[in-house]
Amino acid sequence: MTNPAPLNDNELESVMEINDRTRGLNYDENLLWEKEHNDTAGVDLVPIAGTKSRTGVAQRGNIGLPQVSEPEVVRHFVRLSTKNYSIDSGFFPLGSCTMKHNPRLNEKVARLPGLSMIHPLQPESTVQGAIKIMYELQNWLAELTNLPGICLTPAAGAHGELAGVMTIRRAHDAKGHTQKTIMLVPDSAHGTNPATAKMCGYDIRVIPTKETGRVTVEAFKEALYATDPKGDDIAGMMVTNPNTCGLFETDIADVVDLLHEAGGYFYCDGANFNALVGKIRPGDFGVDVMHINLHKTFSTPHGGGGPGSGPICVAETLRPYIPTPIVVKEGDKYRFERDGERETSCGRLKGYQGQFGMHVRALSYMLSHGADGLKQVSEDAVLNANYISAMLKDDYHAPFEGPCMHEALFTEKYQAEKGVTTLDVAKALIEYGMHPMTVYFPLVVNGAMLVEPTETEGKDELDRFINVMKKIAYDVRSGDTEKFHDYPQAAPVKRLDELKAAREPKLRWQSV
Ligand SMILES: *Cc1c(COP(=O)(O)O)cnc(C)c1O
Repeated sequence: MTNPAPLNDNELESVMEINDRTRGLNYDENLLWEKEHNDTAGVDLVPIAGTKSRTGVAQRGNIGLPQVSEPEVVRHFVRLSTKNYSIDSGFFPLGSCTMKHNPRLNEKVARLPGLSMIHPLQPESTVQGAIKIMYELQNWLAELTNLPGICLTPAAGAHGELAGVMTIRRAHDAKGHTQKTIMLVPDSAHGTNPATAKMCGYDIRVIPTKETGRVTVEAFKEALYATDPKGDDIAGMMVTNPNTCGLFETDIADVVDLLHEAGGYFYCDGANFNALVGKIRPGDFGVDVMHINLHKTFSTPHGGGGPGSGPICVAETLRPYIPTPIVVKEGDKYRFERDGERETSCGRLKGYQGQFGMHVRALSYMLSHGADGLKQVSEDAVLNANYISAMLKDDYHAPFEGPCMHEALFTEKYQAEKGVTTLDVAKALIEYGMHPMTVYFPLVVNGAMLVEPTETEGKDELDRFINVMKKIAYDVRSGDTEKFHDYPQAAPVKRLDELKAAREPKLRWQSV
C-alpha cells in the first residue's frame, strides 16, 4: 500500500473552513440564496414535445427562487429548526409570558379527527360535540372568574382587550354617557392596555405607581378626580392584577368602589391569571371585564407569533354588549348566536368563532387538572417565583418589599455600579445556555429583570438558573466584568452592536 499524499493547501483550507462553520456539528446556516448555484435546478422537468403553454399573460418569468436541490432544501430547514430555542428544549423564564410546559394530552385531544377535520361552515347539527366543547369552556371560564358573560372569539390577549374595551364603550354609548372620555391606566401597564383604549377612542390618563409598585388609593383618587370633582369623565380603568411588577394590587377593592361610584368600569388584564386561577375569582374583587390568555394560563403553546386565544369574561351588567357570536344552548341543542340576533352587541370581531383548537386544548387542560389541580397550579407558580426571589435577594436588587406573586422582579442596580447592565446579564445567560428573562419591562424600574418560572419547572431547574445568576453576580462583584460586554460568544450569533442595529437597521437581505 502506498502512503496517501498529504492534503495540499487548497484542500486543507476547505477542511478548516468546514470545521469553522460546523464546529461540534453546529452548522452556521446561510440563506438559501447564498447557497444557490446557477448550474443546478431543484426540479428537472423534461419539456413535453408538441405542447403549447396556455397560461397566456399569466405566464411567469424568472421568479428568482434559489436553485438548490431537494436534499439541500430539506437540510436547510431542518438545521434552521434545530436553532429554535423553545420550552421543549429548556427553561424559559420570560416574565409576563407564562411560558410553561404544554401537556401533550391536550395536543392529542386537539388532533382527534372529529375535532381537527371539521369545517366552520358545516351545519351546526353535524358538529354538536364541537359546539358543546365551546359551551363547556364558556362555563368553566365563568366559574373560574365569577363573570358570567363569555365571548370566546378574540384571537389573542390584545384582541381580547379590544373586545373588552369595545364592550365598555358600547355600554357607555347605549346609556348616552358621552362625557366619559378618559381611561385610567397605571404606568406599569402592559403597552397593549393604553394602545387598546386609544384605539377605542379614549384619552389615556396615567396613574403613577413608582413608589410602591402598586396603585394606591391616593394616587388613584388624584387621577380619578383630576378634571371632574365626581370623576364623571372617567370611562374606566385598565389594571393588570397581579400587576406587571409581580405584585397583587392590595388596594384594589377600595379603588374599584371609587371607580364604580364614578360610573366607570374596571377592566382587568387577565394575562397574569396563572397566579390567581382556582384561588380567587376576579368577579369577587369588582372586575367588570377581563380577558384570559388561554395561550398563557391554559397551556397552549405560544411564542413566535403562533395562534393565541383571548376570550373575554364580563359581569352581568355588561353581558348584553359583548361581541357576537357566543354559544347558546336551547333544550339539548347547541348553536352560535346569529349576527344581529343580539342588537346590543358591539358586533363581530373575527370570522367564524375564534381559535377552536385553542378552545379544545384549554378545556382539556381544565378537565385534566380539575378544580383542585388548577388551584395547585397557581400555588406552585407563586411558590416557585418566591423561591427564586428569596434565593437571589442578596445578589440582585429587588425594587419592592415583600413576597411576590407568580413572577420575581429585580433590577440592575448592584451590577450597574460595576458597569454591567441588565442587557449584559441577559447575554451572559445565553452564554451559559439559559434563555434570558424579560428585560427592561416593566418600565417603572430602571433596568428591570422580570423572572416568571411557572409551576411546571422543578427545583433542579430552578436551582440551575439560580446558580447561573449567582455566578454572574459573583463575577461582577469580583471585578471580572470585561467579558460581560462580549457575551454571548458560544451562540451562533455573537454579541450584536445594538446601537448600530438601531441606527442603521438592515431591513432586507442583499447579495454581496
Ligand atoms: C401577554 C400579555 C398581553 C397580550 O397578550 P397577547 O396574546 O400577546 O396579545 C397583555 N397584557 C399582559 C400583561 C401580558 O402579559
